[in-house]
Amino acid sequence: AERYDKGLEKSRLTFGQRLNHLLANFRSVDESFFDDLEETLIGADVGFDMAMKISDELREEVKLKNVKKSTDVQNVVVEKLIELYDQAGTDEHNGLTFAKEGPTVILFVGVNGVGKTTTIGKMANLFKQQGKKVLLAAADTFRAGAIEQLNVWAQRDGVDIVKKPEQSDPSAVVFDALKKAKSENYDILFVDTAGRLQNKTNLMNELAKMKRIITREIPDAPQEVLLVLDATTGQNALNQAKMFKEATDVSGIVLTKLDGTARGGIVLAIRNELHLAVKYVGLGEQVDDLRPFEPSEFVYGLFK
Ligand code: GDP
Repeated sequence: AERYDKGLEKSRLTFGQRLNHLLANFRSVDESFFDDLEETLIGADVGFDMAMKISDELREEVKLKNVKKSTDVQNVVVEKLIELYDQAGTDEHNGLTFAKEGPTVILFVGVNGVGKTTTIGKMANLFKQQGKKVLLAAADTFRAGAIEQLNVWAQRDGVDIVKKPEQSDPSAVVFDALKKAKSENYDILFVDTAGRLQNKTNLMNELAKMKRIITREIPDAPQEVLLVLDATTGQNALNQAKMFKEATDVSGIVLTKLDGTARGGIVLAIRNELHLAVKYVGLGEQVDDLRPFEPSEFVYGLFK
């Protein structure tokens, strides 16, 4: 019974809590410590390869620096996680790219339910607060309720929205929104897209069509194609990312539902396997539960 309780408790703990627990309770930096570490990392969705890489590099470092104290081990873990995150990427910056002049267009892609609409609502609020003129395009005309949901966010945020009835051609919505964004001098246009989980060819065609329409109106847009992934779906999120990355030029990730998940390690797995930057993270359902992602802050935050 005790084992069972422990197991349940463990699954409730976040990645950081589990790491903390491990670091606070080890007796010596021996093989069983590394076994526990690997198990913790894999359980947190860091991915098998990344977990082994972290563990192997830590072994080296611990030997090299003759580390014994728990606080020192923690420092080495923190350094390694940040270093491996940085190494795995191909891009330098994890912020958003903005248009030099005219509206910046940001396309949101991802399967249903990952939090696209919610993320747009939060992000629109963020940029509105910074004094930007924000327009939303409700181009997810497929999912029932998606347009109304985005409309509620637009009203709440006090930003404008372009919408058409459900089942309309998403490209027509985008076309109207682009015209409006240009003629009325909006700073940012956020485009919500349908998250139909189709085959890759369909997905590719649909996204290509939308991008063609955007580029015809604004040659250097879209400045960002943000793929929204749900952190609680683990390996599934990685598979979705692979599919979208093959279908279009994804420029970055928004990782939602990181609040309370034991699987924050997915951040590292995404980075390691897809070399994409996580640009924002969702930490809840409320308007201010969106944060720009800072790797070092994230890793340090794990140990608070
Ligand atoms: P979409 O189908 O991709 O547009 O997904 P929605 O925006 O409708 O989100 C699906 C559900 O996830 C909703 O109930 C949201 O409130 C919830 N959600 C979105 N982002 C987060 C987050 O960061 N944390 C939590 N806990 N819930 C979220």
